[in-house]
Amino acid sequence: MRAIVIGAGIGGLAATLSLRRAGHEVVLVEQSPRFTEAGAGIQLAPNATRVLRGLGRLDAVAAQAAPPGELSFRRWSDGAEICRYTLGREVDAEFGAPYLQLHRADLQQALAAAVPPGSVRLGTRVVRIEQDDRSAHVTTAGGERLTADLVVAADGIRSAARQWLFGADAAVFSRTAAYRALLPAEQVADLDLPDTGIWLGPGRHFVHYRVRRGELLNVVAVFGTDTARESWTELAEPDEALRAFEGWEPRVVRVLERAGRMYRWGIHTRAPLARWGCGRVTLLGDSAHAMVPFQAQGAAQALLDAAVLGDCLRGAGPADVPEALDRYARRRLAGATEMQARSARAGDEFHLADGPEAEARDARMAAHAAEQRFLPVAAAWAADVVDEPGAP
Ligand SMILES: Cc1cc2nc3c(=O)[nH]c(=O)nc-3n(C[C@H](O)[C@H](O)[C@H](O)COP(=O)(O)OP(=O)(O)OC[C@H]3O[C@@H](n4cnc5c(N)ncnc54)[C@H](O)[C@@H]3O)c2cc1C
Repeated sequence: MRAIVIGAGIGGLAATLSLRRAGHEVVLVEQSPRFTEAGAGIQLAPNATRVLRGLGRLDAVAAQAAPPGELSFRRWSDGAEICRYTLGREVDAEFGAPYLQLHRADLQQALAAAVPPGSVRLGTRVVRIEQDDRSAHVTTAGGERLTADLVVAADGIRSAARQWLFGADAAVFSRTAAYRALLPAEQVADLDLPDTGIWLGPGRHFVHYRVRRGELLNVVAVFGTDTARESWTELAEPDEALRAFEGWEPRVVRVLERAGRMYRWGIHTRAPLARWGCGRVTLLGDSAHAMVPFQAQGAAQALLDAAVLGDCLRGAGPADVPEALDRYARRRLAGATEMQARSARAGDEFHLADGPEAEARDARMAAHAAEQRFLPVAAAWAADVVDEPGAP
């Protein structure tokens, strides 16, 4: 069969590879003139890296990752450790795949390298999707009409396809935003930072981890706000992040000082849907289930979507498409929706004001880490792992 995938983000690239591995021809249509991922980090839990292995891309991705070691949760004011989880080799042993921390562009490149250049249409914006009983059609801004047996809309949080399928429903502002920066790891070598750190404080949290084989430090500083602007490329005011994190443990303040002027990203989500598609057209990734990033699972869920999509369409013919896409959504919808809710709850917990509730949280986390060694979300990784695209 022939499929059209809209959007060359992590979801669309993975869907393209997964559908190709399922034996189908794919045209990947991306509005940007080149593959563009933000200069920022991304964490991939084993549910995601197992999918990468199934797509034949785990080695290429892992070669660019930093060894993650341990994750240390700390208190905002004095840096006292709340608890510590392993992200290292034990994760691989327990869950059959590694935990990786990467530069987004490295992940995108590793996926894009496996898509034949002839299958990609860059600089091509889709302006309409239509379908009839036998096929689906995509119209581009240039007026071209492409026809396929199915269309996968991996067009991100601002998905136009979602609107065409289900009517207008705007992205929802989470009342949080993130300052972010990448800086050379050597610039913070004297600070004795944990491998991966998350400092929790009232209305804010601060995250750092290393990417690009350990050469760069990725910094994300999340804060509550009423200002909803969303952009990977908008700069914060000079010293804005420093002012927001005034009084935090000196190492946090030092990192923010050295990060210089940071980017500012208003965090949005999408309300859960009861269905992801209609007939021969389906959503995938953020277009279906954008979530706050506090479990680092948005892209992981998009990768799982891609794996299950390929699995549902393996051996399918044109007449089977509506039923196969329905099966794909039914297999993925509950897990992705639960991860949306879980991510939102994590934000609330991370941002508790000092006092008995925060102390109870810290005690809970310490007890859990002492017993489990793996992040609480590990249970979810284990539950929704898809072994290989193609597995039943
Ligand atoms: C601060 C932050 C940190 C995060 N950290 C993590 C993390 O550590 N781990 C994790 O798993 N997830 C993380 N996420 C979530 C993750 O970034 C997203 O879930 C993921 O990138 C979504 O991928 P996607 O392919 O669905 O959408 P996108 O990456 O948004 O891709 C959509 C693509 O579609 C294209 N497009 C849109 N409309 C059209 C059109 N009409 N025609 C043609 N092309 C079109 C766009 O140009 C774009 O390339 C984080 C998110 C944020 C905001």
